[in-house]
Amino acid sequence: MVDAEMLAMLLTREGLTPQLVDNHTVGMNWMHSGAYGGVKVKVPESQEAHAKQIASQLRTQSKARLQMMANTNEDACLACGNEMAEDNDECGECGWSYGQTGIEAD
Ligand SMILES: [Zn+2]
Repeated sequence: MVDAEMLAMLLTREGLTPQLVDNHTVGMNWMHSGAYGGVKVKVPESQEAHAKQIASQLRTQSKARLQMMANTNEDACLACGNEMAEDNDECGECGWSYGQTGIEAD
């Protein structure tokens, strides 16, 4: 399942009425939730604030999950995906630190 579909599912569960559209059919009055592989989620303007909230939560979660799996970006917080300074061991966003992780580097 692509992210856009997952997001639409979450929005529906929250009582919103999202629609999946491709890049060509996204109108100006709709939320641009970002590129999810060429597919976007749009909602009526009245639901935009709520939808953006849910979308950003989903993005934060999937970003953190991806980084944890790939373990490529060592400068980002593995818990929330927040960018961390190279000499900073603790995330300023959520307080996570490298010392707390159970993941061992190979
Ligand atoms: Zn963090």
